[in-house]
Parts: sequence; structure tokens; C-alpha cells
Amino acid sequence: MKIVVASNNRGKLVELQRLAHVNGIEFITAREAGLSDDFDVEETGTTFEENAALKASEYAKATGLYAIADDSGIEVGALGGEPGIYTKRFAGENATDAERIAFLLEKLKEIAVGQRAARFVAALALAAPDGTILDLQTGYCPGQIAFAPRGSHGFGYDPIFIVGNGERTMAELSATEKDNVSHRGNGLRLLRPKLLELVVDRGCYN
Ligand code: IMP
Repeated sequence: MKIVVASNNRGKLVELQRLAHVNGIEFITAREAGLSDDFDVEETGTTFEENAALKASEYAKATGLYAIADDSGIEVGALGGEPGIYTKRFAGENATDAERIAFLLEKLKEIAVGQRAARFVAALALAAPDGTILDLQTGYCPGQIAFAPRGSHGFGYDPIFIVGNGERTMAELSATEKDNVSHRGNGLRLLRPKLLELVVDRGCYN
């Protein structure tokens, strides 16, 4: 069976396809599902979960397929949990990842080591072709904001996110290492039983 991934973000797409590998399920892009490149869903929710559900539901209805959506971002303690659901728009509507990173580092320039706690959050929603939400799970990854970018793997804020109490940024981890600790990996592991249930219910095993 096919599940459309409700996102145009290349980084997320690659990670979701890698993480949600389940025999019997083929994850396809919105374009492969026949949607035009400018198909988009306005994120009008006030939580990661609301936005993930909204996106999964709209992509499912538009394609007639099961859909999986990810709404994610970063919460910074010293900023009272900001930018949260505004992570993508934080530094302006059309900012690049490098500009977003520079903007966040500038905001935190007076914040000392030990007070730069943050966490990545990913809400993952699975919708049926009629738009009904079948499962909604949230994964977290705690860490701290570095003082300068390091590493070249991953995407988005990975180069300035130090994982846990360690030394390495998310962008210094291999793909497998990131999957093992990431918010997206943790969320997907919670959603996995529902994906397996779908495969079994529909009798597709390969
Ligand atoms: P969304 O597309 O509205 O969910 O926005 C997600 C925002 O969070 C984008 O700015 C992403 O770059 C960022 N983001 C989400 N997941 C990750 C990640 O795994 N690593 C780094 N940045 C991420």
C-alpha cells in the first residue's frame, strides 16, 4: 500500500522514508501522488499536533491515499519555549536554514553555557484517505544550542543543536545515529504499531 508523505521539506522526507520503513508500505512524495508542487496546507493550528493532523488530513483527502505528516520545530528554554511552532517562519517567511541559524544564535548571544537548553519536537499524524486521523504521536529530543554551527549532515537547525549532554551536534551524527535519538525517530517508533496494524488489516505484507 502507498502512503503519501505530507511535506515538501526534502530533509524531513528523506528521514521519514528511512525511519518508517515497514514491509508492505511504500512511502511516496506528494508529487508522486499526483499533487502539484504548489499544493500547500496553511498551518493554522496552535500546537505541533494540530498542525500535523491538519496536514495529514488535507494531503489524504487531496490524494485519496493514507497520509503521514510531520510538524516539527525547536523549543528553546531561554526564549520561553520559542520559536516552537514558528520555527520555520521565525527568521522571516523565506529565510534559508543558514539565516535561521544566524538569527537564533544572535538572539542567544548573551546566554551562557548551561543555560542554553532546548529540545526538538516532532508531532506525527497518520490519516486515512477520508481525512480521519488514525494516530497522532509526539517525539522529543533534548539538547542544547551551540555557539556556532558544526557538522554537515542532516538539515535545518542540526548544526547548532548539541544532542543531550554530549559534545556533538546533530549535524555531526551519522544518519543512523540521528535516527536513534531524534525527535522524528522517537515519534515514528511510537507510530509504528499503527502502521503495522494497517498493513496487517489490509493483507499486504510485501
Ligand atoms: P515545519 O515544516 O513547519 O514542520 O517546520 C519545521 C522547522 O523545524 C524547519 O525550519 C526545520 O528546518 C526545523 N526542523 C524540523 N526538524 C528538524 C530536524 O530534524 N533538524 C533540524 N531542523 C529541523
